[in-house]
Amino acid sequence: MAEIEIYISGKFFPKSEAKISVYDHGLLYGDGVFEGMRAYSGKVFRLETHIERLYESAQAILLSIPMTQAEMAQATIQTIQRNQLSDAYIRLVVTRGAGSLGLDPTRTKDPQIIIIADHISLYPAELYEKGLEIVTAATIRNHPAALNPRVKSLNYLNNIMAKVEGMKAGCSEALMLNHRGEVAECTGDNIFIVRRGELLTPPVDAGILEGITRNAVIELAGEANVVVREIPLSRHDIFVADECFLTGSAAEVIPVIKLDDRPIGTGAVGPITKQLSAAFHRLVRQ
Ligand code: PMP
Repeated sequence: MAEIEIYISGKFFPKSEAKISVYDHGLLYGDGVFEGMRAYSGKVFRLETHIERLYESAQAILLSIPMTQAEMAQATIQTIQRNQLSDAYIRLVVTRGAGSLGLDPTRTKDPQIIIIADHISLYPAELYEKGLEIVTAATIRNHPAALNPRVKSLNYLNNIMAKVEGMKAGCSEALMLNHRGEVAECTGDNIFIVRRGELLTPPVDAGILEGITRNAVIELAGEANVVVREIPLSRHDIFVADECFLTGSAAEVIPVIKLDDRPIGTGAVGPITKQLSAAFHRLVRQ
């Protein structure tokens, strides 16, 4: 297989030569933003929406991206085509650029734009059939007044710490609560439950990333006449739920059958999860 080529600020480099400065504040401080998205048969799912979210994240941290949204979309498509990928995972990264060793973002220059399009590594197929087991992490999601989870920043340590807790408990995802003790989201996915035929998910102001897959699933549920409510949820709501699943660009729709070793519903993948997962697959492959 030919070596993947990475886009860095207007040029392509083989993966092994794709490098940026060690003075880049993206590296030194996690000062930057990113997006993760998927291409199906060469077409990126909701590309414009992902790019809008990237620019909103950048605006929230006062980072000006030296390229228009249309140019970013064009560069993304070019990167996929150059690597002759059809089904791919795409990572857009914008760093603050190289600066001094102090925090001061005004002393940086040339934000770096990195586009990686590579093959996708999903959860094993078995987990989509049987469902995931997850645990509640002791690490709470970032307080929105500290670093708003709506900003998809390069500083993902909050999520990584919770992910480690999940992994130590033998799980590949972990549930994160917010500063009020409510359900927020998982480390890299949004969460939904089904209760008495209704689809429930935490609202954006619970301190979550407003997932693009989440929003697509909410639309699909509406089309299927499933009532959707964005309301604060507690662990109790998950324990007494009939079904539970996670959504994310990489994971798509993945069922959850246990939280903290307690079966959810019948402990098997539920009908509404199956229905929405199938609808999502149809939508992305349209
Ligand atoms: N929450 C977090 C913390 C995430 O990092 C992600 C993306 N990996 C999601 C939710 C899902 O968002 P999306 O559906 O836009 O990929």
